[in-house]
Amino acid sequence: MTVAAQPLVDEFEYTPEVAERMAPVFERVKDHITAEEWPVIAPYVDEIIRLKKEKNAVILAHNYQTRDIFHCVSDIVGDSLALAIKAKEVEADVMVVCGVHFMAETAKLLNPSKKVLIPDPEAGCSLAESITAADVRQLRKDNPGVPICTYVNTSADVKSEVDICCTSANAKKIVESLGSDKVLLIPDQFLAANVAKTTDVEILTWAGQCEVHELYKKEDIQQIRKDHPECVVLAHPECPPEVLDEADFSGSTTGMADYVKEKKPELVALITECSMSDNIRADCPDSEFIMSCTMCPHMKKITLEKIVNCLRDLSNEVFVDEDIAKPARASIEAMIAAS
Ligand code: SF4
Repeated sequence: MTVAAQPLVDEFEYTPEVAERMAPVFERVKDHITAEEWPVIAPYVDEIIRLKKEKNAVILAHNYQTRDIFHCVSDIVGDSLALAIKAKEVEADVMVVCGVHFMAETAKLLNPSKKVLIPDPEAGCSLAESITAADVRQLRKDNPGVPICTYVNTSADVKSEVDICCTSANAKKIVESLGSDKVLLIPDQFLAANVAKTTDVEILTWAGQCEVHELYKKEDIQQIRKDHPECVVLAHPECPPEVLDEADFSGSTTGMADYVKEKKPELVALITECSMSDNIRADCPDSEFIMSCTMCPHMKKITLEKIVNCLRDLSNEVFVDEDIAKPARASIEAMIAAS
């Protein structure tokens, strides 16, 4: 549950004082932000840095956030698993989660004494919206004795009904850790199908899918290969299985970033949300990226303006009722322990 969004702040100006204060920040991010973009971004960055200090706040940003948020104002970045693990260790009073709603809920579950804010409470996720707690209770009834593992892309309500959570980075490991010959892996049918191909555990699933990754087709990769035979193609496991079959490597956003940093392919295509390529390009100077741009409209609801607004007013706080939080937290803790 969250409180209503507040109106946005007025635009800030790029004054000589702002330019001078923000010069060291620009020096740090100039490989990611152009000199033409900076005068528009800098006043917001300046205000966010001031507010973070004033409110004793930190900003957590998912890999799919835009370059201005990811590079200029975030303190902690990563995929869902990395953000969950790091959220547990945050000592600041306030966490601003630049990602979608289930990520902010996860941060609150793992560090409940902190104030957790989300700059836009409408930032949802097609996977999280595909299943309810009542659906999970019915699945449990229909499949007695079968352990249920949910992808973290679900609400706290759903997490409170399952045995354990997983992310795209650890799904196979978590499924196999349950010691069962059959596991319900929900709600992403493509992640489930992709895990099923790598394990002897029988996987049952749910008909949810990511509205971004479901758009990719195997023909997209075949076209990339035709145009650029030397290109290395990395695909996210939320893509349909026939897409992964065409790829050279499949992994979470962190897995893909590590692959590019370590193997340094000359030409690479990341089959995932388009901010990924933007955000790792400067750290991978040996690789050229082919843009394969499919944007998550939910992730893109988060903007610098909305971060200023929620930090200034400490608005859009995320709460989870304790009777839901306790079992939901246990399913996330079980995942962290098993990974
Ligand atoms: S990219 Fe897909 S899974 Fe991730 S937040 Fe957007 S809709 Fe949800």
